[in-house]
Amino acid sequence: MLGEKLMQNKIGSIVAIEPKTGEILCMVSAPSFNPTELSGRHRGEHYQELQARPDKPLLNRPIQGTYPPGSTFKTSQALTLLQEGIIDTRTKYPCNDGFSFRGLRVGCHSHSSPLDLNFAIATSCNSYFCWGYYYMIGAAKYGTPQKALTVWKDYMVEMGFGYTLGVDLPGEARGMIPNSDYYDRHYNRSWNGLTTISNSIGQGEVTLTPLQIANLGATIANRGYYITPHVVKTVDGEQQDTAYTKRHYVSVDKENYEIVVQGMRQSVIDGTCRSANNPNYVVCGKTGTAQNRGIDHSVFMGFAPMDDPQIAIAVYVENGGFGAVYGVPIGALMMEQYIMGGLSEASQRKVEDYSNRVIDYGEEER
Ligand SMILES: [Zn+2]
Repeated sequence: MLGEKLMQNKIGSIVAIEPKTGEILCMVSAPSFNPTELSGRHRGEHYQELQARPDKPLLNRPIQGTYPPGSTFKTSQALTLLQEGIIDTRTKYPCNDGFSFRGLRVGCHSHSSPLDLNFAIATSCNSYFCWGYYYMIGAAKYGTPQKALTVWKDYMVEMGFGYTLGVDLPGEARGMIPNSDYYDRHYNRSWNGLTTISNSIGQGEVTLTPLQIANLGATIANRGYYITPHVVKTVDGEQQDTAYTKRHYVSVDKENYEIVVQGMRQSVIDGTCRSANNPNYVVCGKTGTAQNRGIDHSVFMGFAPMDDPQIAIAVYVENGGFGAVYGVPIGALMMEQYIMGGLSEASQRKVEDYSNRVIDYGEEER
């Protein structure tokens, strides 16, 4: 299978969802193991061997791995800030190689400044989303940072974060969306938008599963709703469990989703997702480069075609570096295979290239 081949010699996940139905089209957890090892006379020993491995093959990473979503999360921030009236499409914020305010600094790469939302999504500007979040948490209309963060958290929960989605597989993790109580306990009630600024760029306390990131892509593809992701298909003549047909709407207007879709399109035209471009259909995408203890994780979230989405996808490659290094090309190949029913010769060569790339993880416990 293509996804498994691309994830050879890497640790991470691929999750693809059909936005219209919530059906899970593909789920890869790397490294994987041969399930037959867990049957037969030596299953106990095999299980112990697998359990002892530092790369944790028994962990079903797409639904049990919880990670910082990094910049893929900026799409959820854009939606929240637009809906709350903190920004509109004309709002521009400055970025001087990052966000610097009252002694706090969050770095960014160089690009023109000030910049608007469309360019901020396309170029994945940290500063833009730091400013937007800072102004939201401090906005007078909410009264206190606690109340502002509660509004913010409610959007995040509606988008499917912080709780399990309810996938029809065992062991799903919920990830983490911090709430006001959490910060009140940690900072003795004395905190603000700066203290919690990492939330704006999908770092800090925020963690998501790859399934939740893919579901964010599906929700944007649908312009504002998702259907609980599931692996069991509808069987002819048999009514499906309504849990897997119901639309979960987010309290964000369709127009605001459309603005974010345009930003994700811009990202493919001339931003961080350029290598996902395909002449045969219109791709929308968002990179993520998620910081952690070691080398950054390489992340991609996207969907295609833009106006009739057939596939939404999340790729998460642990310690893969910038999102454009592994996340974008792997996501692009998966979308091409699904939409076109096969790969061009150039893409087939890319498959060989990426499947042969080895990330050295050492022996560190993961
Ligand atoms: Zn920037």
